[in-house]
Amino acid sequence: MRRNILDLTREELSENIKPSFRAKQLFQWIYQKRVDDFAKMSNIPKDLRTKLQEDFTIGVPKIIKEEISKDGSKKYLFGLQDGHTIEAVLLPMKKEERDEEGNIVKEAKYTICVSSQVGCKVGCEFCLTAKGGFVRNLTPGEIVGQVLAIYEQNKIPANRRVNIVYMGMGEPLDNLENVAKAIKIFSDEFGLSISPRRQTISTSGLAPKIKKLGEMNLGVLLAISLHAVDDELRQKLMPINKAYNIESVIQAVKEFPIDQRKRVMFEYLVIKDLNDDIKAAKKLVKLLHGIKAKVNLIYFNPYPGSPFQRPEPERVEKFQRYLLDHGILCTIRESKGLDISAACGQLKEKSSGCAI
Ligand code: SAH
Ligand code: SF4
Repeated sequence: MRRNILDLTREELSENIKPSFRAKQLFQWIYQKRVDDFAKMSNIPKDLRTKLQEDFTIGVPKIIKEEISKDGSKKYLFGLQDGHTIEAVLLPMKKEERDEEGNIVKEAKYTICVSSQVGCKVGCEFCLTAKGGFVRNLTPGEIVGQVLAIYEQNKIPANRRVNIVYMGMGEPLDNLENVAKAIKIFSDEFGLSISPRRQTISTSGLAPKIKKLGEMNLGVLLAISLHAVDDELRQKLMPINKAYNIESVIQAVKEFPIDQRKRVMFEYLVIKDLNDDIKAAKKLVKLLHGIKAKVNLIYFNPYPGSPFQRPEPERVEKFQRYLLDHGILCTIRESKGLDISAACGQLKEKSSGCAI
């Protein structure tokens, strides 16, 4: 069986292919020049090209469907080798600006929200991905491939400023090994050069894995899906809280190595009449004491049959004001791509969340 070359970091590739500068060239062909055929890699010797063809594929997942939202975000449904499907979302953060002659004066900026698993084991009450159960982990190449396919589809040049958020389907820390490889492949200077500081792992709070991620010292950013400030409610919303309660998650965050200039992001899904009162805001301020944190308030996105409701904007704004008044950076996240179900927790297999 041929291996997917996208599964390999450059280090792994250079163990297979000597001399090691060939791995650099291969990365440049695949990720920068986006050539999908070994035969066309002109600076690689012919016999090596033949060998590569025998041993490897360049397995980019197929885009089955593209949906474009009114706000410009685009949702992609991908078909994997074994017939399963996953989703990823492209979110334009800044539009390209051109002068009168048509020259680009400001480059566009993007965030790409990728999936890390088919389905998810964690089973959060409010999340649509959870409804289909867990199927399997994605390989590093399937994670990397989502981004490559989106670059190709949107003609994004390899040097463009792109953020990656692991906020699509799945719990990235439940697939840490493959996600870590994807982080390295994305950040490779001979590839897409997406620095780890522009990659954010969002987790439901697998405390021991947060610790492990910290020990790996990859330099990635961390986002915690907190959503509730007392264990009783969090347990109801997120069964994972039974194994790792709020205190253990906060402790793991406190030990996590984070760039001096950066913050740990706390995602707080605001659900009507459940966690949107000032009492909760007060408790949140206490919990985050001593952490360089940023809170993102997310409106709960209802889906057909969902047991919860979207909160009133005034309540969310009051909540935000309380945090700001108490020295905590806090933004309200307008869900993007609502009209195409590309928003948080609305990603699922064979559908037609991204927390940005
Ligand atoms: N499994 C990881 C990353 C994927 S979920 C995690 O849970 O962090 C990405 C984000 O979408 C999480 O913060 C998640 O809590 C949020 N989310 C899930 N369902 C949602 C919904 N219905 N409305 C709004 N956000 C939701
Ligand atoms: Fe899994 Fe995240 Fe959805 Fe929870 S919110 S079920 S952890 S994808």
